[in-house]
Amino acid sequence: MNNVPVLYIVIPCYNEEEVLPLTSPMFKAELDLLINKNKISKNSKIMFVNDGSRDKTWEIICSLSEKDNHFCGISLSRNKGHQNALLAGLLEAKDKCDITISIDCDGQDDIAVMEEMVDSYLDGCEIVYGVRAERSTDTFFKRFSAQMFYKLLNNLGGEIVYNHADYRLIGKRALNELSKYQETEMFLRGIIPMVGFKSTSVYYNRNERISGKSHYPLSKMISLALKGITGLSVKPIRFIAFFGFFVSFLSGIGIIWAVVESLLGKTIAGWASTTCIVCFLSGVQLISLGIIGEYIGKIFIEVKHRPRYCISEKTDNGPTDENS
Ligand code: UDP
Ligand code: MG
Repeated sequence: MNNVPVLYIVIPCYNEEEVLPLTSPMFKAELDLLINKNKISKNSKIMFVNDGSRDKTWEIICSLSEKDNHFCGISLSRNKGHQNALLAGLLEAKDKCDITISIDCDGQDDIAVMEEMVDSYLDGCEIVYGVRAERSTDTFFKRFSAQMFYKLLNNLGGEIVYNHADYRLIGKRALNELSKYQETEMFLRGIIPMVGFKSTSVYYNRNERISGKSHYPLSKMISLALKGITGLSVKPIRFIAFFGFFVSFLSGIGIIWAVVESLLGKTIAGWASTTCIVCFLSGVQLISLGIIGEYIGKIFIEVKHRPRYCISEKTDNGPTDENS
């Protein structure tokens, strides 16, 4: 019975003091269930990543791990954002386990499908994506914007799984490969499909947040979408060149038209048309510069190669069971 895999459930938490006491027993119950069914090792754990919370989140994590050594945690020195917190947890868990499942701590993702994920791993899959079967609990705006984002990114060449967020199982081999991706701005949803290996999806319904409120307001959603697009595709820059040719072609027609008009003696005041063309072209130029600037900014950030996170504290409660 020694070769059942060790599972680490990795859970990023930012200001979640309201939610953690409610959801931690749910994660524990699922872990116990999987251990009792002998699908995972008794050494499996739930690892919380405190992403620089300002409330009592870290205290709650410490007290959970003191009471029960199936819980453990790491704390980042400051708030680094969901993606970095998740990455920190995955890389920390990498050498301690055979599989990780990442999930948000707010109970929105159906914890019960973890069993199906583990079954798929036992059947030979290295990565198992949790996919939302429907998004009826999201607002119309969130649903619509998310769908546009997935479609846009896929059309631009980024390979992301439709309606999958960061609820997924990753095996050790894929994690080792993931650790070689060194970019500072990591968009995990786009990078993990690049890692390859056999993968599959499991489907679930997403619930409302159990308590507390979302940390993804519109501004953060736009920033994540921009990071995703500029991190995965250079097509927007190429698009500028095509657009430039198109506008030049239109301007060429405009010039011919203006010359013909003046040769025919129908000279017009021309103020309005000149102003329109100037305004239009300035707009196009600014948009183009903005897109190029976005990529240059990205090079600027990547080239410095700053560390993506810094772990300031860890709970230290040792192995869960010496003999398994
Ligand atoms: N989160 C984090 N750092 C942040 C923001 C969020 O670790 O800066 C965590 C948060 O605690 C939660 C997960 O990321 O476990 C998803 O966040 P949230 O539920 O607020 O996003 P939503 O589900 O609304 O997209
Ligand atoms: Mg949430």
